[in-house]
Amino acid sequence: MKLPRFDYEAPATVAEAVELLAAHEDQASVLAGGQSLIPLLALRLARPAVLIDINGLGELSGVSVTDGFVTIGALTREFAAEESATVADAVPLLAAALPLIGHEAIRSRGTIGGSMAHADPAAELPAVARALDAEFVVRGQSGDRVIPAAEWFEGYLTTSRRSDEILLEVRFPAVMPGTGVAFQEIARRHGDFAIVGLAASLTLDDGAIGDARLAFAGLADVPVRAAEAEAFLVGQRPSAGLFEEAARRATAGLDPPADLHGSSEYRKKIAATLVRRGLQAAARNAGERQ
Ligand SMILES: Cc1cc2nc3c(=O)[nH]c(=O)nc-3n(C[C@H](O)[C@H](O)[C@H](O)COP(=O)(O)OP(=O)(O)OC[C@H]3O[C@@H](n4cnc5c(N)ncnc54)[C@H](O)[C@@H]3O)c2cc1C
Repeated sequence: MKLPRFDYEAPATVAEAVELLAAHEDQASVLAGGQSLIPLLALRLARPAVLIDINGLGELSGVSVTDGFVTIGALTREFAAEESATVADAVPLLAAALPLIGHEAIRSRGTIGGSMAHADPAAELPAVARALDAEFVVRGQSGDRVIPAAEWFEGYLTTSRRSDEILLEVRFPAVMPGTGVAFQEIARRHGDFAIVGLAASLTLDDGAIGDARLAFAGLADVPVRAAEAEAFLVGQRPSAGLFEEAARRATAGLDPPADLHGSSEYRKKIAATLVRRGLQAAARNAGERQ
C-alpha cells in the first residue's frame, strides 16, 4: 500500500534528533526499524508530517553492563539482543521473550527501543520490562530523564515520553542468583502477536521463593503486573498446589478486553493456564541455572 506523504530527516547526532523533534512538536515520528511505524502509515493510522530516521545514530546501539544493570541501546536490533551472550546470561527473561517476536526477518530490523516506544500491549518486550522493573532513559530539550517501567506504559500505544524526547536506552537489572525465568504465550501461529503472554521470574533462596514476578501481555491496554499473586508466592516452597492458587489470585480481578481473537473469559482462562505453566517452567529453570 502506498504511504502518505511525509518529509524525511536523517540526523547525524542525538542532539540534532532532539532539536528536530522539538521543532516539529507532535507532528514528527522517530523511525527506527519501521516494523510497526511503516504499517501504521500504510494503514493511515499514523500521519506524521516528518519522519526522523535514527538509523544513522550508531551510539544508540549495543549492550553493556554497569553496576548491576544491563543497558541496551534503543536502536539495538531485536535479533542482535537475541544473539547477545550478555543478554542471555544477565537478562534471561528478555532472552526467552525475544525469539517469540514475529519472525527473524522482522527481528533483524525491529529494535528494542522501537518495541518499547510503540508500547503495543500484546507485545512481549513491554511485559518483560514491567516484570523486571526496567528503566527507560530519554533525552529531550530539557535534558535526560529516567522513567521506571511502571510509569512508562500509559495506555494503548502510549508512553510517558514527551514529543521532543528520544528514547536512548533501556536498563534491565541483572538477574539475581537462584532465579529461573519463563516467557509463555498463546498465539494463533508462531510469530503472531500473543493473545495472552506472561513473563515469569522466580528467585529461590534455600528452596523457598524469595522473589516472584509475573507480568501479562494482552490483558489490558498496558502490560499488567500480578502484584497480589507475587506477594502470595514469596516465602513459600514451589508446588503444583501453590502455583494453582497463584494462578487464581493473579487472574481473579482481571477483566480483559474481548476482540476477534478471543472473548474476555477465554483470555482469563488462558492467563490462569499461563501462570501455572510459567511458574512451573521458571521453577525448573531456577534448578537448571543453579
Ligand atoms: C509481521 C510482523 C509481526 C510482528 N510480530 C510481533 C510480535 O509477535 N511481537 C512484538 O512484540 N512485535 C511484533 N512486531 C513488531 C516488531 O517487534 C517491531 O519491530 C517493534 O514493535 C517496533 O520496533 P521498530 O524498531 O520497528 O520501531 P518503528 O516501527 O520504527 O517505531 C515504532 C514506534 O516507536 C517510535 N520509536 C521507535 N524508536 C524510538 C526511539 N528511540 N525514541 C522514541 N520513539 C521511538 C516510533 O516513532 C514509532 O512510533 C511485528 C511486526 C511485523 C511487521
